[in-house]
Amino acid sequence: MPASFHKSTLFIIVFVMMIPISLIAQNFSGDELIGKGNPELFGEGIGLRKEAYEAFLKMKAAAKKEGINIKVVSGYRNFDRQKAIYESKYRRFTNSGLSPEKSIRKIIEYSTIPGTSRHHWGTDIDVIDDNGKYSGDVLIADKFHGNGPFCKFKEWMDLHANSFGFYLVYTDNANRKGFEYEPWHYSYRALSKQMLTEYIKIDIKKVLFDEQLLGKEYLDDEFINTYHRDHILGINPELY
Ligand SMILES: [Zn+2]
Repeated sequence: MPASFHKSTLFIIVFVMMIPISLIAQNFSGDELIGKGNPELFGEGIGLRKEAYEAFLKMKAAAKKEGINIKVVSGYRNFDRQKAIYESKYRRFTNSGLSPEKSIRKIIEYSTIPGTSRHHWGTDIDVIDDNGKYSGDVLIADKFHGNGPFCKFKEWMDLHANSFGFYLVYTDNANRKGFEYEPWHYSYRALSKQMLTEYIKIDIKKVLFDEQLLGKEYLDDEFINTYHRDHILGINPELY
C-alpha cells in the first residue's frame, strides 16, 4: 500500500478525534429528554454533560479573574424532582385559595410541567455570583439589575457567556411569551440545540397521560398546545 494512503488515513483519524463531540450527531433517548434517563453528568451539585461541564469550568475560571465567583444554584433535575417542585407549588397555590387553573398558570410563570424542563437535559444551569452580598431568594430578576448583588455578574455574562457556548434562555424580550425573564438561566447551546430538535418530536400529551400529576385534568390538549408554543419554544431564538 502506498505511504500516502497511510498518511491520509492517519490524518482523517486524528481529524475525527479532534471534532468536538457536539458536532457529531448524537442520539438522545426519549427518556433522557424528559428527565427519565440516566445521562453521565459532571460537577457535584451541578450535573452537566461532559462537554458542557468543561465549557462551564473555562467560563468560571475566566470570570474568577474578574472577581466573579460563578455558582450554580440549580443544574440537572430529573422528572421526579421536577414533579415534586410542580406539585409542591400546586398544593401551596391551591391551598391559598387559587383555582387549579390559576395555580397552574402561576406555576408556569417560572416552573415547568415535569417532563418539559430544560433542566432535564444536563445542558442548562441557573447561576449567580457567590459574592456574599446577597440574602434571601437569589433567583429574582431585580437582583441582576441596577444596584442588585448580581449586576456586575450579569454585565460580565452579557459580554462573555456566549463565547464559552452558554446562552440566556428566557430573555428580557417583550415579544417573547412563556416563562418570565430569567437572567440566571443559561444553556450550553452546542448540545441543547440538538436536544431541542429531538425533544419537539416527542408527544408530550402521551408522556403526561400515564402520569399521576396533581391538576392533570387541567392539562388538556389546548393547554399543552399553547404551553408547547409559548413556553417550550418561547426561548432565545439563538437556541433553536
Ligand atoms: Zn433554570
